[in-house]
Amino acid sequence: EGMTIVELAKRTGKPMSSLQDILINVGEKVDSEFDPVSIDIAELVAMEVGVNVRRLHSNEGSEVLPRPAVITVMGHVDHGKTSLLDALRQTSVAAKEAGGITQHLGAFVVNMPSGSSITFLDTPGHAAFSAMRARGAAVTDIVVLVVAADDGVMPQTLEAMAHAKAAKVPIVVAINKCDKPAADPERVRIQLGSEGLPLEEMGGDVQVVEVSAISKVGLDKLEEALLLQAEMMDLKARVDGPAQAYVVEARLDRGRGPLATAIVKAGTLVCGKYVVVGAEWGRIRAIRDTTGKLTEMAKPAMPVEIEGLRGLPMAGDDIIVVDSEERARMLSAGRKKKLEKDRLKKIDEGRIEIPDASEETPVRVEMPIIIKADVQGTVQAVTDAMKSLNSPQVFVNIVHVGVGPISQSDLDLAQACGAYIVGFNVRSPPSSVILAANRANIKIKLHRVIYHLLEDMGNSIVETAPGTF
Ligand code: GDP
Repeated sequence: EGMTIVELAKRTGKPMSSLQDILINVGEKVDSEFDPVSIDIAELVAMEVGVNVRRLHSNEGSEVLPRPAVITVMGHVDHGKTSLLDALRQTSVAAKEAGGITQHLGAFVVNMPSGSSITFLDTPGHAAFSAMRARGAAVTDIVVLVVAADDGVMPQTLEAMAHAKAAKVPIVVAINKCDKPAADPERVRIQLGSEGLPLEEMGGDVQVVEVSAISKVGLDKLEEALLLQAEMMDLKARVDGPAQAYVVEARLDRGRGPLATAIVKAGTLVCGKYVVVGAEWGRIRAIRDTTGKLTEMAKPAMPVEIEGLRGLPMAGDDIIVVDSEERARMLSAGRKKKLEKDRLKKIDEGRIEIPDASEETPVRVEMPIIIKADVQGTVQAVTDAMKSLNSPQVFVNIVHVGVGPISQSDLDLAQACGAYIVGFNVRSPPSSVILAANRANIKIKLHRVIYHLLEDMGNSIVETAPGTF
């Protein structure tokens, strides 16, 4: 793999002489414009001249084998995405091997009796899906669209449909909460049909499965439907050769440093290699599977946690393997420079749009908030109370509401969007959750009186954004 300077000039549209200068600057020997430069160097040079690059990995000459599907769960808030993932996770290897206690890694694997497996991304909702896609990471093969049988199609159901369609990712519908007396799966089918989703029973190709995440009914049917969908898609990946992978989640561990959950798209990720991850770099020191067991390598669609990065990457960042530390450093530096250039350019463009952005226009500070309360009525009351904190300076963004105690998935969401968690009339979360929150610096507010909650949040706003409240 690689290309000549002639080719590089053609693709970037830049004169060969300036490319040659850059090559000399990065310490590459160039004797002739027909000398091939490595793909890493080509990327670096392209970035230097401000050209966006995307690596296409060819599967030529290497064995291509079937691979498991990667699934994202989407749907309207409170329709049971988290509950469904929890229920599916309990059927996974990790849950069995770890005695039911699983660490949240951003993904888990369900092994089927047939020997096949399914990989689930553990961050529900289209926000995560789109954030990844925005970074060029097409990780998801199939979307499970969760629709509550008692509530039917709602605005975020349609949003999720739109996101899946835009990404050309097929949908399998899970009609959830079928245990409820008010469940009306037939109505959901009709609604989905009239929204243009071609359901199987109406002659289309979208499978529909009735489930209950709480009474754990239909989970096996859902898994089978996903396998069938995957089979129809004939998902394959190159197994040999250097890995091309994506980050689905990243976190900082006090002892182990930056950790990234990665899903390999193609090739095999091997321990000990130098990698560039987004704009960061590192050398893979350890690879763990979703049960926390050390492993030497990761194959396509297998989620693993990698250790050894020098900085914290972002979800959706690509992982590429490079030959040497020097090259890793160089590419990472190049990408950082490019990011900074893009950032400055954006600020610049912003300035042109709003010429007086300096002092007259106050910045509206966003306060993302997650609300958990004992019953639906209180959820609504607390939501209204939080919205009353809105002002020209402060934008209260309610990212998630729910009934029940504060859970690990609330923490994950809070961490992803820098949100406060408000628990109203709920039990104090288990110490493991509190510990994790402290570690991730997530603020949890527990109250039983609206007035006290408002006062507390008001103080927080003053702290976050002095002079705005
Ligand atoms: P999300 O916002 O889509 O992630 O929804 P959650 O998983 O947080 O579920 C919202 C609420 O619906 C919770 O109170 C769950 O206990 C409840 N729920 C979820 N699935 C089911 C189900 O299959 N049956 C019943 N009866 N309740 C459910």
